[in-house]
Amino acid sequence: MQRPAARAEADLFAQESAALAQARAAHDDAQADTRAALAALIVHYERLMRESRRLIRRSDRAELDMNQMNRQLHELAQQLEYRASHDPLTGALNRGAIIECASAALERGDTALIVLDIDHFKWVNDDFGHPAGDMVIQTVVRCLQNLLGPQVAIGRVGGEEFSVVWPTSRIAAAQEVATRICDAIADQMFGAPINRQITASVGVSWARQGSSFETIYSHADEALYAAKRAGRNCVRTYTGMEPNPLLAAVA
Ligand code: GH3
Ligand code: MG
Ligand code: MG
Repeated sequence: MQRPAARAEADLFAQESAALAQARAAHDDAQADTRAALAALIVHYERLMRESRRLIRRSDRAELDMNQMNRQLHELAQQLEYRASHDPLTGALNRGAIIECASAALERGDTALIVLDIDHFKWVNDDFGHPAGDMVIQTVVRCLQNLLGPQVAIGRVGGEEFSVVWPTSRIAAAQEVATRICDAIADQMFGAPINRQITASVGVSWARQGSSFETIYSHADEALYAAKRAGRNCVRTYTGMEPNPLLAAVA
């Protein structure tokens, strides 16, 4: 039902109002031609019903479209959030996200940070090519995920360096996890074209609630390089915080 804009603004139902007024007048006047007034009323009433149905159909369609767009928007926001916090090659947390996780864990309580770096990885690239190197990186992350489960924050902080945030008040517990990680990678089958053992060196550091990420990370990094110096494929723990009795006990 097309109405001129100006009239629509003045009174949306001008025609219907006129027909209604005519019907009222006919109803109040015993001499009036009620059939003609009723006929006009029927025409307008039917038109109103047709228009109402059309509007309801249109608004139902608009609601469906809006719901679909909302769902797409929600999915897109989730994808964006995932991309902003995850490493595209492995699906592990990226550096920024692991810093956030570790910082949040340190705010909540005592926390250990385990960092690992694949041993002699350059040889993997040199001997088998970059795509095979990528496959090794992916397999290492899958190995960590299988070992530690989905609740544990595992991050890829560099090319072939990874971090695990392990909230604990016992550094011995974190050392035990680090040893399991080191063993699991050494036992992992890497398949063709690698078909040889790959190992990683692991550093562990532990910090009390309230410590900064920078501190716990630099200590774990020191421990990692101690593991490299010790011949690789082993775990070393940062002990520089002595005389902390917990750390001294495991040195
Ligand atoms: P080390 O035992 O001392 O760790 O020896 P390394 O050969 O592993 O030495 P380093 O950790 O310095 O080597 C890192 C190499 O990892 C160098 C770089 O070419 C490679 N790399 C970094 N990122 C990627 C990646 O995304 N894919 C592949 N295939 N290689 C990468
Ligand atoms: Mg390396
Ligand atoms: Mg490295």
